[in-house]
Amino acid sequence: MNQALDPDLRRALADRIRYYNELGIYEFYRRASSNVESVAADSPATVEIEQKQEMSPRKSAVVLKPAEENIFQALTPKPEYGAADPIAALKLIREDLGDCTRCKLHQQGRKQIVFGVGNPRADLMFVGEGPGADEDMQGEPFVGRAGQLLNNMIKAMGLRREDVYIANVVKCRPPGNRTPERDECETCSPFLMRQITVIKPKVIVALGAVAAKNLLAINAPMSELRGRFYDFMPAGARSSDPSWQGAKLAVTYHPAFLLRDPRQKGEAWKDLQMVMKYLGLKPPQKSE
Ligand code: SF4
Repeated sequence: MNQALDPDLRRALADRIRYYNELGIYEFYRRASSNVESVAADSPATVEIEQKQEMSPRKSAVVLKPAEENIFQALTPKPEYGAADPIAALKLIREDLGDCTRCKLHQQGRKQIVFGVGNPRADLMFVGEGPGADEDMQGEPFVGRAGQLLNNMIKAMGLRREDVYIANVVKCRPPGNRTPERDECETCSPFLMRQITVIKPKVIVALGAVAAKNLLAINAPMSELRGRFYDFMPAGARSSDPSWQGAKLAVTYHPAFLLRDPRQKGEAWKDLQMVMKYLGLKPPQKSE
């Protein structure tokens, strides 16, 4: 029977596992007895239930480290660890996702899973909240009217859609385009974290408050979230990886919101200009 672990012991265990990870040790074996081992070897789902009980909204400014409540799930060795390149690694993550039934969105009318699209080595990644009707139909994120606007935003930055990577916090369409619920985001977002870890973008742009709050674990209004960079390291990323020390994360309005309130496009452009400056991008010449 699973037992809740003392919080101090849990923290100490998480620190120890992180220490081993930094030494390059990812594989752990299990023994039959003792509380610590039974928790370390628990199924992710079991640990997740315990994690949910301990979670509460956080209002602090910036989250720079993997959320502690995800640490056990994040530290489980993943199939993509041995992949030769990001294309193969993303394929392994997609295979691991399978015909996913991990959250209730699988039985609420989705036609297909919308995994993500774009350059597996992108410097820039956009993350929205979840697929809508067009995305559900076509199996690709941001292909409807909001997608057209996102394409225009990308073009205005001097890039093409295929230069960037685009994904969502949840990969199945919430019914009626409702906001994905917390348990759905918590269940699905580890796969997004793994995609980010493989792609290693320099900058992530969170499109809208839902994406921002899920990536940063900050509960704040858009007015407070926008206008600055956050240091972002996905839960489960190997902090000892010399090739990537995390991404800068910026927050801007979701294109669907900009379609409803075009007056905010100027504000969104300011956010994108901040990103362009960081990445050394120039807007295309008028004649292009
Ligand atoms: S939203 Fe994510 S976790 Fe939920 S069923 Fe779809 S792929 Fe699985």
